[in-house]
Amino acid sequence: MSARILVVDDNPLNIKLLAAKLMRDYYIVISAESGEKAIELTEKEKPDLILLDIMMPEMDGFETCKRIKANEKTSHIPIVMVTALSDVTDRVRGLEAGADDFLTKPINDMALMARVRSLLRLKMIMDEWRLREATASQLTLPNSLEKDEDGPARILLLEDSPHDRDRIVNTIRKLTGSTATAVENMDDAVQETKLGDYDLAIVSLDLQSGDSLFFCSQLRADEATRSLPILLIANENEIDRVAKGLDLGANDYVLRPLESSELLARARTQLRQKRHHDWLRKNYEQNMSLALVDPLTGAYNRRYLDVHLPRMFAKYRSDNRPIAVLMLDIDFFKKINDTYGHPSGDVVLKAIVARITQSVRPHDLVARTGGEEFSVIMPEADMQTAINVGERMREKISATPIPINDNDPGITVTISIGVAVTRYDKEDSIDSAFLRADTALYRAKQTGRNRVESDAGGD
Ligand code: GH3
Ligand code: MG
Ligand code: MG
Repeated sequence: MSARILVVDDNPLNIKLLAAKLMRDYYIVISAESGEKAIELTEKEKPDLILLDIMMPEMDGFETCKRIKANEKTSHIPIVMVTALSDVTDRVRGLEAGADDFLTKPINDMALMARVRSLLRLKMIMDEWRLREATASQLTLPNSLEKDEDGPARILLLEDSPHDRDRIVNTIRKLTGSTATAVENMDDAVQETKLGDYDLAIVSLDLQSGDSLFFCSQLRADEATRSLPILLIANENEIDRVAKGLDLGANDYVLRPLESSELLARARTQLRQKRHHDWLRKNYEQNMSLALVDPLTGAYNRRYLDVHLPRMFAKYRSDNRPIAVLMLDIDFFKKINDTYGHPSGDVVLKAIVARITQSVRPHDLVARTGGEEFSVIMPEADMQTAINVGERMREKISATPIPINDNDPGITVTISIGVAVTRYDKEDSIDSAFLRADTALYRAKQTGRNRVESDAGGD
């Protein structure tokens, strides 16, 4: 789907000009002639990118930008401020208002398209993480991982002009607690990024020793540095190479003569974005593992089954392929706890899960569905296969006592198992398969334990 871009300008002619350029590249353009209207449209239409004029009567671009960025529902939408080339303070104010970028009037077409592409690409990545985070938070409590958006940063600078190098390093030091490592050639830069855990690479496009765009593409090709932000330093006549750099995955650029406040604002923006991105990813990973896995045994938990199984059932039903459900319950587990103590009971639970896992195929799913109760889901297993696997588990668990400590003769533990298989002829569901497995398990308990019983399907 084409990206949708909101163009905001109080002058309808400017809107027309920009819209024409954007539509030539097949973007969908929406427009607003005031800040108020832009805020309203942003919330309603959720554009993928906003091009925002600064000089507007009533609410100006800074205020509009601030409000869009302050709104939780719209803060993720990238904003490019449109300003006059000479006005450095405007640019810095814009970035401080939360703008992701700015363009200078008259707008250079190539810079416009490169920036638009670069920001849309970044937004796509961020949207993906936001989506995953939404799924994760659906499965768990909001996460506790703290956001740290302004902590010390490690910055790598690739620049061979001593004058600019000193200037940039001195500027970067103004970012609280940040350290800058400066290198003069690409080989050293590659070495550094392999060793160091950098938060930002500032790369001069104007090196004596070779084309630094090559370094940028190397950073993007390597898994470890794929998301390291790259800020290019370029001369005004190098705008073509800047565009190429942005297409290769560089995130932003600053033109010479370098303006400290602009460099600082752009570096800060990149660092903030990286931190946010890292936070989303860590949060997601932590949420997912907390949400899905039982910490004691490493088996999946019930929550995971609740989300996963209905999807799996729908998929298998459509091709009429069976899913076997085994319900397992440890026999007289209470007595094990009472005799050996709760911690020993925990050791037994872990050992049982290990033995169950060893008895099944890698794509079978083992879950802890209760205190001493487990489920095994076996895709594409028919009743006989499932019974055989159940027997194998029962045997494996009962045959060898479970040692609690080293040199321990161990505790003999048995389990009872109920087996059922989905059937798609009637109004079956994964829940009814579980019910049937549970009934079979009950029968296994009733008829002496340490047994596998199966459900015939109720006919
Ligand atoms: P049955 O053969 O009928 O299944 O008897 P049982 O004793 O296994 O069943 P019951 O449901 O009476 O007892 C289950 C016990 O499992 C009670 C509970 O304290 C214990 N349990 C539940 N979760 C844990 C756990 O995480 N660790 C330990 N050590 N014990 C647990
Ligand atoms: Mg039990
Ligand atoms: Mg039980």
